[in-house]
Amino acid sequence: MTQEAQQLQPRQLFVGGVWREGNAGMRRDVVDPATGGILTTVVEADATDVDVAVRNAREAFDHGPWPRMPARDRARILNRAAQLIRERADELVSLESHDVGKPVSLCRAVDVETAAQQYEYCAALAQGIEGSTRSTPIPSLAYTMRLPVGVVGAITPFNFPLILSSTKIAAALAAGNVVVHKPADDTPLSALFVAELLKDAGVPDGVLNVVTGSGQVVGEALLRHPGVDKIAFTGSTAIGRHAASVAGEHLKPVTMELGGNAAHIVFDDADLDVAIGAVIKAFVFNSGQFCMAGPRLLVARPLHDTVLGILEQAVPTVPIGDPRDPATVIGPMAGERQLAKVEEYVELARKEGGRIVCGGERLDLDGGFYYRPTVIADLPADSRVIAEEVFGPVLTVQPFDDEDEAVALANSTPYGLAAGLQTRDVTRAHRVAARLDAGIVWVNDWAMLDPAVPFGGVKDSGFGREYGPEALEAYTRVKSVVVSLPPTPAASAVTEEQA
Ligand code: NAP
Repeated sequence: MTQEAQQLQPRQLFVGGVWREGNAGMRRDVVDPATGGILTTVVEADATDVDVAVRNAREAFDHGPWPRMPARDRARILNRAAQLIRERADELVSLESHDVGKPVSLCRAVDVETAAQQYEYCAALAQGIEGSTRSTPIPSLAYTMRLPVGVVGAITPFNFPLILSSTKIAAALAAGNVVVHKPADDTPLSALFVAELLKDAGVPDGVLNVVTGSGQVVGEALLRHPGVDKIAFTGSTAIGRHAASVAGEHLKPVTMELGGNAAHIVFDDADLDVAIGAVIKAFVFNSGQFCMAGPRLLVARPLHDTVLGILEQAVPTVPIGDPRDPATVIGPMAGERQLAKVEEYVELARKEGGRIVCGGERLDLDGGFYYRPTVIADLPADSRVIAEEVFGPVLTVQPFDDEDEAVALANSTPYGLAAGLQTRDVTRAHRVAARLDAGIVWVNDWAMLDPAVPFGGVKDSGFGREYGPEALEAYTRVKSVVVSLPPTPAASAVTEEQA
């Protein structure tokens, strides 16, 4: 059997360090977005499967070696995981590309490499988790410890399965937690691959458990399970709002990495070569299924028509097609549901009076879920296509007259995940960056991310930060210890004499 055929064998749940069938014996098809064909099947788990996974995780946390291990040993295992991710990069690229439709070149350079770097970065973080001592007027030694929170329920979306699961798992494990992970039902394969890879790296059984199945059943059961101590959720604002309310009812701490609808501002002094490259990257990368995509282009009015003209010429030349072709930049959308949503929004844009500058239609290729990158101008200010998260390769373009208007338009949606601006004026760059309602702002490029740089949203894009040392805030709790240190008799005598 070839390596690829082996990878695409029907997959089971990974619970307690072993593969298991689900309680109800149900299965779900995993579809190849490049052809619409069935790749393999995974278990459609139920609440009983979640319960078994949580019990295994609980046992690993309460009695297993992972939380008690010296941080340096945990770090060694996380570094080994990074090494294995790189060694098995070909397999991971192939799997993720089949599952999500990601172009192989980008998948290797971005998804797989970022995942490896996340484990390395978190290995270093693990060794720096520290408490502190506090000075008090009470005769005492007061100190704090940072401890793991326990069993983390991680729920992740379909668009960057490997990166987004690694973000949570690497940070949670670094702090000594254990995890039950529910990947998106459309794209579950890399999560199962990584679970076994982490076991090979030395992660003890029960520390990482992966339960596949629907959000309504598996996700919901995780949110409500009394054995889960914390929820780490990435997904849409609508589901995140629901997840946060259920977690709140159960008094579980949550981190919420939610939707986005970033503005990308091109000022009249921008370097247009740099700006256009960033603008295109910001809306076509991952077929626009990108929480931090830049789908709302705001252009200084004197440049508006010039920029539209350049985009009309340049966008159709971006290679779109078979994700397995190393030259491909835009692959298919991850699923039929995502494709249908984009088609609906472009149809709505037409009804709203928008002008389709390029794209605006499916690409009929091999039965896959392809949509041509689409630029839309002349939409009314109250357009829903501008205001809502389309989550596809669609760029709307609006002119602005001055900096205040650009900032007001940029901040005019409920989202606040990312934003960006193109300018050669360094003062303006800092001034505008400070005024944008976003968790991260890029200047003169787009999507510059690194495991060291905190990432997360404001407003309807969520709360909590992943990446950077800030990520540990979400995966640790502080305990204070105050030890009474009454003065020794000798010290008391000296004090009395002095008095
Ligand atoms: P989604 O529909 O919200 O799903 C996210 C996850 O939640 C999936 O695993 C889903 O399971 C699960 N889920 C669904 N219903 C649930 C419930 N009742 N209880 C618990 N879990 C439930 O999002 P998506 O369509 O997969 O991903 C796209 C969205 O994610 C976009 O809005 C995007 O902006 C956002 N996103 C945000 C970030 C960030 O860092 N801020 C990163 C990536 C994506 P099923 O797959 O089974 O439905």
